[in-house]
Amino acid sequence: MKGHATPPSPSAMRIENGLSVDVEEWFQVGAFERVIDKADWPGLQSRVEANTGAVLDLFAETGAKATFFTLGWVAERAPRLLQRIVAAGHEIASHGVDHQRVFTMTAAQFRADLRRARAALEDASGVAVTGYRAPSFSIDTRTPWAHQVLAEEGYAYSSSVAPVRHDHYGWPDAPRFAFRPVAGADLVELPVTVARIGNRHLATGGGFFRLFPSALTNWAVRQVNAEERPAIFYFHPWEVDPGQPRVANAPLKSKLRHYSRLGAMAGKLRHLVAGHAWGRIDAIAAREAARLG
Ligand SMILES: [Zn+2]
Repeated sequence: MKGHATPPSPSAMRIENGLSVDVEEWFQVGAFERVIDKADWPGLQSRVEANTGAVLDLFAETGAKATFFTLGWVAERAPRLLQRIVAAGHEIASHGVDHQRVFTMTAAQFRADLRRARAALEDASGVAVTGYRAPSFSIDTRTPWAHQVLAEEGYAYSSSVAPVRHDHYGWPDAPRFAFRPVAGADLVELPVTVARIGNRHLATGGGFFRLFPSALTNWAVRQVNAEERPAIFYFHPWEVDPGQPRVANAPLKSKLRHYSRLGAMAGKLRHLVAGHAWGRIDAIAAREAARLG
């Protein structure tokens, strides 16, 4: 109707959610750490450039921007991959040097790991790194010093907490949404999104997204956005690679988790990425920091 102001529809005010990729090789996962020695990594077939390339192509289809939490180990060996990520408008952030979980380190070892990873990532990419994600969401009640170290090292944000109960990780009582973990510091923690079903929290990214119907994660993103908060979603490049070598001597449970539904992942991701608004986590962290004041 002419002259009549129509309020914008809810879909026009879509909340931008955080899209993230934890850039590591198929053999650099917690599930295989007891059967694949770190000393053997350099001799294993590298697939991270090809797999991350497929992820970049997938994001380019929709124009979605994302954060790539990358291992220093990968940056040292595949600097061109990091340059390609940056050229496509995505963010490079840190995932540590070699996937050592934070709760296995001392505060001093954690600081050294942060510094070595950041130097490798910045050397390879040519851009400043301001974000960090702990390997296997390993910042929890066992590491009360970890956020303090991140703040002292000048990080703007961390996305290292999973507010869930899980056999390998989790800090069930952590806040679901952005918070300031260190009093008096600017550092913001952006926990990975969990679905809330009654009193239960369910993970929504990575293996959960791959193994369960994507409707669950879609629903969780809408649930979080209905609370006017951004969702934080993650997955790994190896999850779009059905042709990766199989680790025969891994525990059965690990093998079931790691190898199931790899062929379905790209299609599910396409659907998820097209169905919501997505962006880099540094931008979302800045918005959440402004909101927290
Ligand atoms: Zn990881």
